[in-house]
Amino acid sequence: MSGAWLPQEAIRRKRDGEALGADDLRMLARGMADGSLADAQVAALAMAIYFRGMTPSECAGLTLAMRDSGDVFDWRGESLPGPVLDKHSSGGIGDLVSLPLGPMLAACGAFVPMISGRGLAHTGGTLDKLEAIPGYRTQVEPERVRSTVRTAGVAIIGAGGRIAPADQRLYAIRDVTATVDCIPLIITSILSKKLAAGLDALVLDVKTGNGAVMTDPDRGRELGMRMIELAAETGLRSSAFLTDMSEPLARSAGNALELREALEILRGEPADPRLMEVTCTLGADVMVLGGLATTEDAARSALMKSLASGAAAERFARMVASLGGPADIVERPDRHLAKAPVVVDVPAPRGGFVTAIDTRALGLTVVSLGGGRTSPGQPVDAAVGLDRLAPRGHAVEAGAPLARVHAAKEDAARRAAVEVSRAYAIGQALPARPPLLEKIGSRR
Ligand code: URA
Repeated sequence: MSGAWLPQEAIRRKRDGEALGADDLRMLARGMADGSLADAQVAALAMAIYFRGMTPSECAGLTLAMRDSGDVFDWRGESLPGPVLDKHSSGGIGDLVSLPLGPMLAACGAFVPMISGRGLAHTGGTLDKLEAIPGYRTQVEPERVRSTVRTAGVAIIGAGGRIAPADQRLYAIRDVTATVDCIPLIITSILSKKLAAGLDALVLDVKTGNGAVMTDPDRGRELGMRMIELAAETGLRSSAFLTDMSEPLARSAGNALELREALEILRGEPADPRLMEVTCTLGADVMVLGGLATTEDAARSALMKSLASGAAAERFARMVASLGGPADIVERPDRHLAKAPVVVDVPAPRGGFVTAIDTRALGLTVVSLGGGRTSPGQPVDAAVGLDRLAPRGHAVEAGAPLARVHAAKEDAARRAAVEVSRAYAIGQALPARPPLLEKIGSRR
C-alpha cells in the first residue's frame, strides 16, 4: 500500500471490479469490528461485493481477517474428552435444527461451541429464538463460552464483543440491505465464525428452494463445495448437504414459537418427521466426520437415545442456566415464554391438497409481524409468528385452518392472515415433493 489507507478507496476499487489485497481485507475487517467503518461504508462494501463477487483468494483473505477480528478458540489446552463439533445452516423458515441438535450432540459426547446468527432477511435466526428465553445471554465473554462448553457440552452464542465481531457488524447490515444472497458474503460470514470456534469437524446445511437464501440448487451446491474447500484449506474437516426449503421445515415460524417446538423435541414428544430426518442426518454425519461414531447408524441411534433418555434436554437446561436463563425452561416453558395477545386461524379458501407454499412470503410475514428486523440492531418481538403450519400434501377442507397467526395487534393479525392465505396454493392433485436431503460432499 502506498500512502494512507482509505476505506472509500478500497470500496471504490471493489465497486470497479478490482480484487482487494490481503491488507485491504484486514483493514476492512478491522474497521467493521472496531466501528471505524461507518454503517454506510459497510453497506456500500457489501453491495459492491454483491455485484462484483470475490475471487477465491479474496474470499479466503476476508474470511481469515474476519475470524481474526476477535479471539480464536483453542480447545487443545482444555483436555476435552470428545471432539469439538458443530453444524451451521445457510438459513430458512422454521429451521430450528440447531436448538435440539446442539444438546443432542453434547449428550452423545461432543463439545459444541456453536456461534450462531440472528434472523437474516426473510429467514429466522437461532440467537433470536434463544433470546425468547428471559435472561438468556447470547453475547458473552469467551471465558463464559469455555465454561459452558465444559459443563453443559454446548454453548449456543452469537458473534460480537471478542468473538468474530466483524461478522456481527456485517451480518446485521446485510440483513437490512438486500445483500444476503451473495455466495462470497455467505462463505465469509459462516466460516469466519466457525473457524473462530476452533472446531474439529463441521456439517453445513445449505438450504435450497423458495424459502432459502440460495433458491437455485446449483448455486446451493456451489456454495456448499466452496465452503468445504475453504474449510479444508484451513485444516477444518467438513461436509455439506443441500436440504429442501420449498416449505417450512418445522410447523412454526417465529422465535418463541419455534423455541417451544424445539423444547417439545427435547422432551421426547412426537416431532415433524422431515425436521427429525434433517436433524439426525446432519448430526450423524458430523459425529462420523469427527470420530465420535464409526457408522451413521450407530450415530443416529445414539442421537435418538439422547432424546429418549432426557440427556439432550438436560444438556439444554444446563446451557440455558449457564448463560443466564431459567433452569426449568424445558419443563415449564409457559412460565417463561411470551405469548402474543392475538391468535387467529388462517382458513383455507377452498378444499383440496396444499400443492405449493411461498415459503419466503411466510418468512416475510414473520418479519412484518415484528419477529424480524428492518434496521440493524432493532429489537424483535419474540412472541409473534406462525404455528400449526400445514405442510405440502396436507389435505384440507374449505374453511379449515392452514396455519395460525400470533400477533401483537388485531390489524397486524388480519394483514398477516391474508399474506399467509396467499402463500398457500391449494389444488386437487397430491404434489410431488423434492428430495429432502442431498449430500454435496465432504473434505477431511
Ligand atoms: N448464516 C450465516 O452465518 N451467515 C450467512 O450469511 C448466512 C447464514
